[in-house]
Amino acid sequence: MKTPNPMYDVVIVGSGPTGAAYARILHDEAPRLRVLMVEAGPSLSEQPGLHVKNLPDPQARAAAQLASQGPVTSLSPESPVPGPGRPGTFLLRPDELAPRAGMPAAAMSSNVGGMGAHWTCACPRPGASERISFLDDGTLDAALAEAERLLSVTSGAFVDAPFSGEVRRLLEHAFDRTGAAAIQPMPLAVQKHPDGTVTWSGTDVVLGPLADPTTRGETFELRDQTLCQRVTLDAGRVTGVELRDLATGAVSLAHAPAVVVAADALRTPQLLFASGVRPRALGRYLNDQPQVISAVRLPAGVVADGVKDAAAGAALHSGVSWVPYTDEEPFHGQVMQLDASPVPLAEDDPVVPGSVIGLGWFCATETVEENRVEFDESSLDHYGMPRMTINYNLTWKDLRVIDDAKDAVTRAGKALGTFLDDRPPFLLPAGSSLHYQGSVRMGQHDDGRSVCGPDSQVWGTEGLYVAGNGVIPTSTASNPTLTSVALAVLGARAIARSMK
Ligand code: FAD
Repeated sequence: MKTPNPMYDVVIVGSGPTGAAYARILHDEAPRLRVLMVEAGPSLSEQPGLHVKNLPDPQARAAAQLASQGPVTSLSPESPVPGPGRPGTFLLRPDELAPRAGMPAAAMSSNVGGMGAHWTCACPRPGASERISFLDDGTLDAALAEAERLLSVTSGAFVDAPFSGEVRRLLEHAFDRTGAAAIQPMPLAVQKHPDGTVTWSGTDVVLGPLADPTTRGETFELRDQTLCQRVTLDAGRVTGVELRDLATGAVSLAHAPAVVVAADALRTPQLLFASGVRPRALGRYLNDQPQVISAVRLPAGVVADGVKDAAAGAALHSGVSWVPYTDEEPFHGQVMQLDASPVPLAEDDPVVPGSVIGLGWFCATETVEENRVEFDESSLDHYGMPRMTINYNLTWKDLRVIDDAKDAVTRAGKALGTFLDDRPPFLLPAGSSLHYQGSVRMGQHDDGRSVCGPDSQVWGTEGLYVAGNGVIPTSTASNPTLTSVALAVLGARAIARSMK
């Protein structure tokens, strides 16, 4: 007979890189635990969590991106339909409702694999004060190394890409950097094959044996198009989750003594709020990484020298270099060599692959309590969850850091070649980074300024864990996924220990 309310040991809400890291570590370290993963969005491929860039057919890739851009049906028809964001994402607010302050570009993905099916895969380690000071260095470094293993991070995939050595040499003239802060190839979550092709890491890579039905075993179940609308609790202890099948509308319960909410930095606090778990810091200290961008072209002489290599197809992909974060320059540079120009060029002036360079500098901002995502139970979003509004303003210090980042981009551009247009480096709208942090932040003590402890368990709520970039408590500029996967490794091990 079928049990109406099935029992699990752990329910994971969200199938992005951090939810997948919980599933994988639990599988590796406590293989008998019965784990249910629920995901609001649809599956995009047979292999759960495949990165869409690995889909060879451009039409299949475009369809997968579209399917990730939010719900097509709405339980509250009066709610505005979210606007499209970058491919594979949808904006929190359609353009016409985006407030001028706040985060007009705040976006999400809803699909098996989350944003991890669409990401650029840059995985720098946090440096200097980006690191979490209350985690001892050995613990944090070991967790980062495990996250690198789970995501298959390498710095060597594109070292031989056309012009990439030259790009780093030119950057070294502009930035006086040594040691961990030296100019270097960007660590990327990617596997390079002997024929030069690459596989970008989606969450299938993190899930490992769990992504393959032949090796998955009986203890792991993944349900797509399943919204967790509430975590159920009894006297401060987790008892399970209330789920809604988005295809049929059927509501059911699943029992479990541990629930991990890995539903991104906006929807994780939303689900806690909807469940009545509302510590003071919930949704507060929200920080984005303001992004300054520009583009340059390598000098004709450099291109002519290297063109033989490029034409001979020395590498199938262009390189990505990294100008790391320092406390003196609290931003980091992602220097992406491109195969096409982001602005139109003359027809008789074709781009040699790798010779046009996108400069993207991410800035660290202050963690300010007033910067927050707020929830309103009286007005529901298109999933039937409490509506979100973001209050977000930059401080004077943030504005100074952004000005310094613009100077750094100018310095990098001048060292590398000629800017593609007359516009000086400019700041993208708030939220464009897609790196939102702090909304369920980790703390050393339950002092009202954090939502969870160092093992990611929510203060005072036994069995409830939070995951994702929202957990990161520090002000960071480095792309956050590696760090949030590392924190997920620590949380998953805590659950495995507590259940043994
Ligand atoms: P997500 O990947 O966002 O997954 C959360 C999942 O939870 C979603 O699938 C969502 O549908 C699901 N969910 C939400 N609410 C519920 C609910 N109530 N019930 C059930 N399911 C729910 N980061 C980097 O570090 N480096 C990069 O180079 C980089 N590049 C990026 C480029 C792009 C185009 C994009 C879109 C993102 C990029 N990112 C990058 C960000 C990176 O993808 C995220 O940091 C990462 O995916 C976060 O993982 P996560 O598991 O916390 O959340």
